Amino acid sequence: MQATKNGIKDPRGAASRETPVFLPELIYFEPEALEYPKGQRILRYIQDKGIEYRLTTSHNRITDLPGNTELEKYKIAKRTLVVGVRKTLRFDTSKPSAEYALPLATGCMGHCHYCYLQTTLGARPYVRAYVNIEEILAAAEQYIRERAPEITRFEAACTSDPLGLEPITGSLADAILFMAKQPYGRLRFVTKYHHIDSLLDLPHNGHTRIRFSVNAAEIIRNFEPGTSRFEERIEAAGKAARAGYPIGFLIAPIIWHEGWEEGYAELIARLKSALPPDAAPDLTFELIQHRFTRTAKAVIAKRYPNTKLDMDESKRKKKWGRWGQHKFVYPDEQAEKLETFLTGQIRQAFPHAKIEYFT
Ligand code: SF4
Repeated sequence: MQATKNGIKDPRGAASRETPVFLPELIYFEPEALEYPKGQRILRYIQDKGIEYRLTTSHNRITDLPGNTELEKYKIAKRTLVVGVRKTLRFDTSKPSAEYALPLATGCMGHCHYCYLQTTLGARPYVRAYVNIEEILAAAEQYIRERAPEITRFEAACTSDPLGLEPITGSLADAILFMAKQPYGRLRFVTKYHHIDSLLDLPHNGHTRIRFSVNAAEIIRNFEPGTSRFEERIEAAGKAARAGYPIGFLIAPIIWHEGWEEGYAELIARLKSALPPDAAPDLTFELIQHRFTRTAKAVIAKRYPNTKLDMDESKRKKKWGRWGQHKFVYPDEQAEKLETFLTGQIRQAFPHAKIEYFT
């Protein structure tokens, strides 16, 4: 590990290079998407960068991706952006972090080995961005009305990492501005990226909570290629907090690994030393232990054949999952140890923070 300018160690050892903004190599547009202002915005963006594009009939059917092997196709798909119109305006639920998922995009350019998108996106791992933001937000408004005066929370990162795409789409900014005016609506998203500057001056009205996904150094080093460095995420968290956004941290997936107590203790200490003391009056934490299904295990083995991710079923407890198959979580005793240790560390370092859940 290398020390950085403010003394925080970077687990990947790359101290100075800024993680670049995602630049797709291949772009497809649905012709209809070009009729929307956001479609035009994305078109201008990619033309400025000199990236060529193709037309496609449907953002759900890209069949001519280059690559000779499945692995090659997967890697190219992760650098492919498909710009389309979101047809389904019925939102999925998003427990426990929110009531509904806000569909701004699907797919992610990151390469986290454990990412559940590996399985949920199946054979379509390319990144899809939706241009009909007005229609999507109008649907959100309808959901808010149905539940008012209860607050309705929308999670914008259920199927993507929208901050990683923000320089291209600007959709988070639209959603933040929309939600600022909703007395009964709240937005939240979680990210492993740091490209946050365009959001800092928005009149967000405190209605958007930005959470940063963090982990022990060993986990970031081994399992999160293609994302912003820890230090960059923490800097972005400080910026968001100083811009008045409610912020939080998602520690996920919590992985039982050799030296996990030191690893997670160091993580909390690093968060504490990096955050300005007055930065987060209502800081939240969400804690999610690692889990996998047999389908995920098979997909991960193909896409990241050298992964060190421990998916030994014999060491896990079987639990019935919402995707209609068993998931493998840590046995109760291990899960309790993880929960007790992490909540203890968080309470000590951030006595005013709220731990929203451990799952
Ligand atoms: S950044 Fe998030 S959405 Fe993207 S690959 Fe990693 S875990 Fe998945």
